[in-house]
Formats: sequence, structure tokens, C-alpha cells
Amino acid sequence: MTKKYDANLVVIGAGAAGLVSSYIASAVKAKVILIEKHKMGGDCLNTGCVPSKALIRSATIKSYIDRATLFGLTITECSVDFQSVMQRVHKIIQRIEPHDSIERYTALGVECINGEAKIVTANCVQVNGRLIYTKNIIIASGARPMLPDISGLNKISYYTSDTIWSLKKLPKRLVVLGGGAIGCELAQCFSRLGSDVTLIVRGERILINEDTIVSSEVLQKFTDDGIDVRLSTEVLRFNSTDNSSEIQNSLVCKNTKGSTEDIFFDTILLAVGRKANTEWLNSDESSLNIKLSSDGSIAVNQHLQTNIKNIFSCGDVVGAYQFTHVASHQAWFASVNSLFGLFKKFKVDYSVIPWATFTDPEVARVGINEQEAKQNNIKYDLTQYDIDDLDRAIVDDEDHGFVRVLTKKGTDRILGVTIVGYHASEIIAEYVLAMKHKIGLNKILSTIHIYPTYNEANKYAAGVWKRANTPQKLLSLVEMFHAWRRR
Ligand SMILES: Cc1cc2nc3c(=O)[nH]c(=O)nc-3n(C[C@H](O)[C@H](O)[C@H](O)COP(=O)(O)OP(=O)(O)OC[C@H]3O[C@@H](n4cnc5c(N)ncnc54)[C@H](O)[C@@H]3O)c2cc1C
Repeated sequence: MTKKYDANLVVIGAGAAGLVSSYIASAVKAKVILIEKHKMGGDCLNTGCVPSKALIRSATIKSYIDRATLFGLTITECSVDFQSVMQRVHKIIQRIEPHDSIERYTALGVECINGEAKIVTANCVQVNGRLIYTKNIIIASGARPMLPDISGLNKISYYTSDTIWSLKKLPKRLVVLGGGAIGCELAQCFSRLGSDVTLIVRGERILINEDTIVSSEVLQKFTDDGIDVRLSTEVLRFNSTDNSSEIQNSLVCKNTKGSTEDIFFDTILLAVGRKANTEWLNSDESSLNIKLSSDGSIAVNQHLQTNIKNIFSCGDVVGAYQFTHVASHQAWFASVNSLFGLFKKFKVDYSVIPWATFTDPEVARVGINEQEAKQNNIKYDLTQYDIDDLDRAIVDDEDHGFVRVLTKKGTDRILGVTIVGYHASEIIAEYVLAMKHKIGLNKILSTIHIYPTYNEANKYAAGVWKRANTPQKLLSLVEMFHAWRRR
């Protein structure tokens, strides 16, 4: 029997979203073709999570060495060999590469093609001159760093999270533009490795999506670390002057008081946001018109279906939560809905999305925070446990930060948790599980936590909630009972 289609599913982009989509589809025996124009693994492996966390590791070790005397250790000399630091970053990428490789996916039964895909019709994708006829398509083309619209940008050479990994020399004076997760993580890294870092933020605080108290806690650490953080500061223009022997780069910025200032730098990292990779869609060759949202991301419904019914999309290109684990989460819905939607389509579930910013202190979150509760008129109780009280944190000299839990007013049902502190990204896992499976604070309180660990902070937070919610009437009765027993 001749087949009308070459594939059940063509996946465009081999980042987290595309890889997981292909994995799931091949696991359920669909014929899958995965097309990647650049590097398998996409941003996460090559320019995102993996290199940034590898660099953070070197910076963290350096920060421990800088604090050595606190632990009774004398380290006579420590110098940063930046080339070796970067070599390690690239070695780590190489070690993880096989997880996302063509070899692995081919062995899983996925046909991998290196080339730039174009969607010709709803059922036809073109790559390297080949036309592939497919029942379904998943667009997982990711996002890239946004460039700010500031005059003079074309006169200076700048880095973004795409290119910073090619740096050969530790910048002496580094400006980081943008106070989101990427800007904050990298600003602290370079500062700890020895650069003089100025972090320029347009908003009035860093990590603007988190509660004010969270931004303040991280800002305090940045300031203590010696990072020059400029809040409410707008860059007006960039300048580059060639002083015969060297090029002088500077920017002119304006703070909220209205005064302008020149800031000189050797290197600048632009981290002002990310933009969906959608320009290649809706090309002249294509007869389709895939709908985009106002921010340029692909518009999808609750099933991750685009306006073309057999074309689905997932990952950074659909925006919302730009994280690797969310891309993977969405990939399940995109692949299952595309392959089996004929029978049933599943709504993508965003109710329990965790994430972390890997600064020191780490910031980890699941569910809503206080500012979101207020914005949405959600009635809540707020419980805070301060980690400076936690034995393990005191032992480790990491006694800072807090666990903040929002519960539905008058109940122990968790609406959201923010943890700021050492290993916050690990500790939050208990609350993620609790929220996912509707486990309340009473149950967390009645669970044994190993002593001495950071995880105990979760139980203590539940304890704080319990003390604030003790049934007073019952306690009075019990008190009377004891008094009666003493007679
Ligand atoms: C510095 C940095 C740090 C980060 N840290 C974290 C972190 O700690 N934790 C976390 O969860 N997330 C982190 N992220 C975010 C994370 O990297 C992304 O959310 C994730 O990579 C998104 O995966 P994706 O598959 O949607 O897109 P991508 O990884 O961008 O993959 C898209 C792929 O599609 C390909 N492509 C595009 N167009 C075409 C075409 N026409 N034909 C063929 N191929 C095409 C691209 O080449 C690319 O490989 C970080 C990001 C950055 C930049």
C-alpha cells in the first residue's frame, strides 16, 4: 500500500521542546522526523542552562575560597584562570551532548535531519530541498535574546547569552543590561570571578516578577558582593571612541532623578529579554498564515494547537514560561494531542509550575506569590519561616533567606511558595509535589524530615502556619482537662 505521508509527525527544532516531543512520539511508535538547523540540544545545552550553571559552579567555588577564613582555612593564593573556567564550561557541554545527540535520537527511531525547515503547507515541510509530507507538525523553534532599541548599539561590540560563551578573557569592567534571571545570574558570576560589574536595570528592582522582599534579599547580597547595581536607570545611548591605542566604550544613562551619567566598560552583556523565533514562519514559500500573539510568539490554544489544526507548538516559541522543564512538560501535550487528538485532546496544565533563579541566594518558586495574589484578588494567609533559625544553615554559615508560603485563607491548601536561600531550587521540590498532589501544610508538618537538612525549613514553615492556626477553643478545653487531672 502506498503511503500518503512520509511521517506522522515532523518536529521543527531540537531544543528541549522538540527533543521531548520526538522522544514521546517515537516511544508510541509514530514515524517522527526531527529537523534542527543549528545544534542539537538548542539553547539549554549550548547557550543556556548548561553553560550558565557550569559557570556559576566555578564562581561559587571562588566565592567559597573568598570566605575560607570563616571556616578556619587559610588559602594563600587563588587566581582565576578564565580560559580554564571557560574550557570547563565547554567540556561540561560536551559531556551532556550525547543526551541530545543525533545518535541517541536515531537509536530511538527518530529520523534526524540537519537543515533549516520551512513549512510549505499544513502537511508539507521543506528541508535541504526535500519535501516531507506529514500528518502533523510541531513547531519548537525556541527564542533568542532580544536587542534593545538604543542608539549607538551598532557602534559597539556586545555580547548576549548566545555569544558570551566565546569570551576568552575575563572582562575587567563588565556592564550587564537587564535585571531578570539571566542578567542577575551572569552579573554575579562575573563579579565573583573578578570583573568589576555594573548591573543596569530599568525597573525599580531586580527580579521584578518576584515579591519585593525577594528582590531586596538578592540585591543586598549583590551589593555586599560589590556589584554596582543601578536601579531605575535607563540607557540613552552607546558611545565608542577610538583613542589611537584603544577603543573606549561607554553608555550614557539617566536615573530617576533625571541626572545623566557616562559609564565606561570593556564588555557589555545584553540581557533585556527574549524574542520568539517566528520570522521564518509565514514565508513567501508558505501558503499558511500561522497566527502570532502581539509579542511575536506563536498563538496556541489550551491544547497547544495553532490556528492550523494539525500544527502544534511548544517551548519558548509559545512564550509564557520560558524554562526547559516547561518546554518538556508542554512537549507531552503537543505530541500526544497531535498524534491522538482524533480521540481526545488534553489541556496543558500550568497549575503547578516551578522555577528557580540560580543566584546566591537562590530564588525558587512554585505557584503564586504575594504580588500575584494581590493583583488577582485572591484571599490568602502568608506564612514566613526565616532560615537564619535553621540548624543546618547555621552549621554551614548559610543562615540567610526564608520560606514564604501562601495558603488559601483559613485552610492549609498551598497556593504558592517562594524560597530564597541556599539550595532553594532543591528544597522547593517538596512543595511542588505537595501542590501537584494537593497535600496541605498539615501533612508536611506530620512528615519526618532528616535532621539536620535544609529541607527541615519546609516543615518549620508548616509549623509556623500551624501555630498561627491552632484551634484556640480546643486548646482552652485541653488546658481545663489538664487542670482537672492535677486535682
Ligand atoms: C543563559 C540562559 C540560562 C538559562 N537557564 C535556565 C535554567 O537554569 N533552567 C531552565 O529551566 N531554563 C533556563 N533557560 C531557558 C531554557 O534554555 C529554554 O527555556 C529552553 O532552552 C527552551 O527550549 P526550546 O526547545 O523551546 O527552544 P530552543 O532550545 O531555543 O530550541 C529551538 C531550536 O530550534 C531550532 N530552529 C529554529 N528555527 C528552525 C528552523 N526553521 N528549522 C530548524 N530548526 C530551527 C534552533 O536552532 C534551536 O536549536 C536559560 C536560558 C538562557 C539563555
